[in-house]
Amino acid sequence: MSDQSKSPRPTLQAGEELHGFRVLRVETLPGIRVTAYEIEHKKTGAKVLHLHSFDRENLYAIGFRTPPYDSTGLPHILEHSVLAGSEKYPLKDVFKELMRSTLQTFINAFTYPDKTIYPVASQIKTDFFNLARVYTDLVLHPRMLKETFLQEGHHLEFSKPDDLSSDLIISGIVYNEMKGAYSSPDSLIFKALQENLYPDSVYAFDSGGDPDVIPTLTYEQFREFHRTYYSPSNARFFMYGDITTPEHLLFLSEMLAGFKRVKINSSIKSQKRIKTPLVIRGTYPIGRDESLQHKTMVNIAWMTSDNTDYETSLVLEIISALLVGSSASPLRKALIDSGMGEDLTPVSGIEADLKQLMFCAGLRNTQSSDAQKIEQLIFDTLRDIVANGYDNELIEGVLHQIEFHGKEIVRGSYPYGISLMGNVFQTWLYDGDPLIGLDFPGAIENIRRRWTDDPQIFQKMTKQWFVDNRHRVLSIMEPDADFNDKKEKSYREKMANLKSSLSVNELAQINVQAKELKKFQSEQDSPEAAATIPKLKIEDIPKAIDTIPSQHSLITEVPVLEHDIFTNDIAYVDLAFDITHVPEELQPYLPLMGKIITGMGAAGLTYEEMDKRIALTMGGFGYDLVTGLSANAGKSLQKMIFSFKALYRNLPDAINIVSDIIGDGDLSNEARMRDLISERKNNLQSAIVPSGHIFAKMAAGAALTLPAYRDEQWHGRTQLKFVQNTANNFNSSKQEFRAKLDSLRKILFNRNNLVINLTAEADGLKIAKENIIRFLDKLPTTSKAKTKAEPSLSSVFAGISIPAQVSYVAYVLKTPAFTDPACPLLMIAAKEMSNNYLYKYIRVQGGAYGGMSSFDPSLGIFSFLSYRDPHIVETLKIFNDVQDFYSRNEISSTEMEKAIISTIGMIDKPVGPAGRGYTSLMRSFAGITDNMRQKFRDDILSATPLKLKDVLVDYFSNASKSAAVAVYSAPEKLDEANNRMEEKLHIENIFDT
Ligand SMILES: [Zn+2]
Repeated sequence: MSDQSKSPRPTLQAGEELHGFRVLRVETLPGIRVTAYEIEHKKTGAKVLHLHSFDRENLYAIGFRTPPYDSTGLPHILEHSVLAGSEKYPLKDVFKELMRSTLQTFINAFTYPDKTIYPVASQIKTDFFNLARVYTDLVLHPRMLKETFLQEGHHLEFSKPDDLSSDLIISGIVYNEMKGAYSSPDSLIFKALQENLYPDSVYAFDSGGDPDVIPTLTYEQFREFHRTYYSPSNARFFMYGDITTPEHLLFLSEMLAGFKRVKINSSIKSQKRIKTPLVIRGTYPIGRDESLQHKTMVNIAWMTSDNTDYETSLVLEIISALLVGSSASPLRKALIDSGMGEDLTPVSGIEADLKQLMFCAGLRNTQSSDAQKIEQLIFDTLRDIVANGYDNELIEGVLHQIEFHGKEIVRGSYPYGISLMGNVFQTWLYDGDPLIGLDFPGAIENIRRRWTDDPQIFQKMTKQWFVDNRHRVLSIMEPDADFNDKKEKSYREKMANLKSSLSVNELAQINVQAKELKKFQSEQDSPEAAATIPKLKIEDIPKAIDTIPSQHSLITEVPVLEHDIFTNDIAYVDLAFDITHVPEELQPYLPLMGKIITGMGAAGLTYEEMDKRIALTMGGFGYDLVTGLSANAGKSLQKMIFSFKALYRNLPDAINIVSDIIGDGDLSNEARMRDLISERKNNLQSAIVPSGHIFAKMAAGAALTLPAYRDEQWHGRTQLKFVQNTANNFNSSKQEFRAKLDSLRKILFNRNNLVINLTAEADGLKIAKENIIRFLDKLPTTSKAKTKAEPSLSSVFAGISIPAQVSYVAYVLKTPAFTDPACPLLMIAAKEMSNNYLYKYIRVQGGAYGGMSSFDPSLGIFSFLSYRDPHIVETLKIFNDVQDFYSRNEISSTEMEKAIISTIGMIDKPVGPAGRGYTSLMRSFAGITDNMRQKFRDDILSATPLKLKDVLVDYFSNASKSAAVAVYSAPEKLDEANNRMEEKLHIENIFDT
């Protein structure tokens, strides 16, 4: 057994050589329990960094510097394309094949402004090396077929295939993906800042691709870019986990055999400092019926220090947190309190994935005429800080946050190794010290020493890098209701001109090429090609479920669930209040109530003072609204959960704070309340375009089950409408609003409603239990209210109009609950359909960025979704035809194995200590026992094509009759769809008018 609280003992020493590598440096990083090896491949000069730890989720990543020289999206299209097969693995989409035939816990590829990274992770050693082997071969020896370039990049085709009189259109996966990105205000704002702040560097270009420029990219340029930059001499290999360094080096020596050292000039040049501040103006899309008043975004962005100057960049990161990081931050406060806008722009803060750090601060939903005043206010505030200094408590709070987040083992949607990797590349890519950002105890010590030596250090740096720094941009982004129309119009004109300039012969050729591409796409990979991918066997999959240590007890009659798990001295506390009995009219208020209660003052302190207390003692404090069906669907659960985390030494203070907030919250500050409501409104509004498919799923699901209905009511467009309404009528209805929150508090905060969930090691659990009693003593005990009536569900066939150039389509069916024998098979079905049927028709042939199905037994729904989709009617037909497809096509035993493996991969996805404790709580609410989970797993592992087919026939032919549909799209696309459909989408607007 290994001691998880220590770093592994070194296996190699600096100066040592092994398998053709030279070890340059070995360092122990006790703060993150890692032993780090910096290594060089002697022959090619490839750089290697291994962070050896006791984590069994190993990560492997290859990174290249890929500086773009235009905005054709070359690095991005290449990133998609190398995953489409190599000589050794000649499959059309190896990425997808690896997704479904391995127990990968993470597999992805990222294009940054100046680098491209390919990471994979697994908890099983053979699987890990299989993945690493294929991934390395793909990036170093890709096939780079012309067809791949056309499919992933861009190509021409006719809107009606074979009809040369129909419109000529551009298609391509990256092309469509970027059209989506160019509809999102946040990414447009960020792009404008980056281009203007770094005009002479690679950051002046969009490595992702500008849809107007993508079509100019040629196949030859595409191949050349790979030849130039994808060489081991330009590569950085990053590894993390419990596999030893010598094992990695042996593997890498095999992968790098045959390569020579080549000279590559890929260094990222620094941007020269500009002397005159710039002012830029731009526009972003807004809904046709939305009001244009108070919708301008005003930002100031500064180019600051080089990333590799760690001493300076750390101070700048602290200053950024001081200025805008919390609600007690002086610049954030000044901007919000000015009343000129609603809240900070989402780009506010520091951006460290650029060679020279960028800091930005700005106001959302203001007017263009206030831009100068906003600029003035920002500078007045900064000058005031320079003259009078920062609040010491605020600085201490930021230092505590660095310590906390350095210590915390985070495993959310990506592996812990990924966050370490991100940190490493911020300096490593520019030839700085890769380990410098990982040593957080050293960093805090360093800052404290410098702060003691010079108590004015933060003020001085604020003066130097912000007040006196003329390398900055004032950006004014205005809403434009015709933004998308203009784009669409100029696109149509361009295409019409192009078409009229081509001869009949040339048009016919385009048609032939498009048809050949479709044919290539629809051809199956040969069984020999498919067999080249090393895969796990069903026998290699662990048979037994992973269990979470759990113990039930009572503290003053309140049920407590404890999980004794290694957390690196951090305790996680969840306070779950039952909300099943909250009256229907109060249900929509719950999310705002959570936001307001955790963001206001309490116990005689203002919200700023509370915020500072929180930053000094906790790693985070938030709330969540959860709902789901019980294991046998006998009932549904609804909980409001307040969660916080703290270092053991801070637990007593943290519990006092929570006790003050829940027991003694102060709702009297109306200005603050209005700001919090605006913030939630803006967050919801800007979430829609980037995750339209999730909103579409919620909208449709609401027709089918109570949990899905609540999910929409709390998190979907119903909630957005409610919050918009509350924000707009705040002045006239604030009394009533407060009264509602007060009654909610009375209903909710009651000892009889509460279950406590604790996750920590034994000593942390002990401190938590000793202190939580004080909190319980403050909670009133009243008798539990009776369960109230449920809302009635009604059918949904909705078209929801949004300002976007692409569509999001959801087709949702009702399903049985967890213990139903069909459930394990439906889970496999979701994977099988996503991997085959939907992937092929929605993504590859339809040109959407994504097509997927998902089964959620807890909400009781099965969903078909498309993401950034150019189609609506065709997509709905594809969803509708699923059962028909499977009744005509066999599922081979190999396909079945893959579907089983990817289903197991999904349910075995590792979670961090906090997530483990939380998951166990959810299971206990739903009544899901380990026996039920084991049976579920057994059923997945023993599923056969025949059983799967039976469920598909039974299930989808009947259920499709009760399907609910929701489409998020541009109004003209919805109209167009309605003209072609018998049953019409019920069109609605969601934004303010
Ligand atoms: Zn992409």
